[in-house]
Amino acid sequence: MTKLDKDMRSWRHDIHKHPELGFDEKRTADKVASILKDLGVETHENIGTTGVVGVIGKGSSNRAIGLRADMDALPIQEMGEVDYKSVHDGVFHGCGHDGHTSMLLGAAAKLKEIDFNGTVYLVFQPSEENGLGALAMMEDGLLERFPMEAIYGLHNMPGIKQGQFSVKSGQMMTSEDIFVIDIVGKGGHASMPHMTRDPMVAGAEIVTALQSIVSRSLGPEEWGVVSVTEFITDGARNIIPSNVTIKGDVRALDPTVQKKIEQRMREIVDGVSKSHKVAGTVGYNHEFIVLDNSESETTAAIEAAKMTVGEAMVDGTCETCACSEDFAQFLKQVPGCFILLGAGDGDNSPPLHNPYYDYNDELLEIGSDYWVNLVKSQLI
Ligand SMILES: [Zn+2]
Ligand SMILES: [Zn+2]
Repeated sequence: MTKLDKDMRSWRHDIHKHPELGFDEKRTADKVASILKDLGVETHENIGTTGVVGVIGKGSSNRAIGLRADMDALPIQEMGEVDYKSVHDGVFHGCGHDGHTSMLLGAAAKLKEIDFNGTVYLVFQPSEENGLGALAMMEDGLLERFPMEAIYGLHNMPGIKQGQFSVKSGQMMTSEDIFVIDIVGKGGHASMPHMTRDPMVAGAEIVTALQSIVSRSLGPEEWGVVSVTEFITDGARNIIPSNVTIKGDVRALDPTVQKKIEQRMREIVDGVSKSHKVAGTVGYNHEFIVLDNSESETTAAIEAAKMTVGEAMVDGTCETCACSEDFAQFLKQVPGCFILLGAGDGDNSPPLHNPYYDYNDELLEIGSDYWVNLVKSQLI
């Protein structure tokens, strides 16, 4: 194992042990900045709250690209037993952002040692999980202060063979909206339902009717997912509730479909509520936009991946993933490509956001080499 691989592992374990939630990545950002400075990298801090940008320029070209990592952890209790286990109860690096951060720091060390022609901006963003960090950095002038012709991102992915890269040009990840439906009725004694206006029965009908949005309101060519995930009442064994709250999640690939789903949801809640004489309201929030990889940057990413792990380990036409990524916000402003790096497909490979998940350290060398190959092939 190289000294740098050892360093990347120790940085990763330290970040893992001290996880911080979105916009609170103070210790993590300090650590990133201090490692960059130790490597002799020009470092800019506090961009979009806790964001950090490292700048490495070589040669005479004024071309520039951005490489992005995310730094935030999740509000989950870690259940696995590693000796660098989270010291913060209920906060945990369950998505591998500790690994992405260390990997990009490793790439910084490697880029300092090689020749290329242009500028690399190493973008360490806060608050990916709640979809706010990319916008926060851009609102704080990221793209004006560090003008880049393209931006690239990478995420580890359990369930894909270790070291295999998966990517596709165009729409690779979906939008995500969340909804909260509040139904207010009139609660009362379970033995006298005729004296109440039961929000439970109305709510159950709404849950069933929401299933018809995808099956009956979208055309066969229109892609969408509507999932109800919570049903909360203030009732009890012998009390008909006064209030019901229904929560859930919507995925789509087309803003027109997204609007159609929201509109049908409002109509259903309105109609069913009226028929039950309860008051129903819908709160509907757009959380993540569709992630759309641009064509020539995806070709560049595929080439860099092949240079890193060989042609057989690169899938350049992967399936669209019904997951969402804040990186999509960067791609709305700058061309670029987001790629997945397989973390292993064995039985011992818990999915992202699972309390037993732990980032696969074998990916640190592969991912940092991918970054270097991308820079070498793009900034020539
Ligand atoms: Zn995540
Ligand atoms: Zn993630």
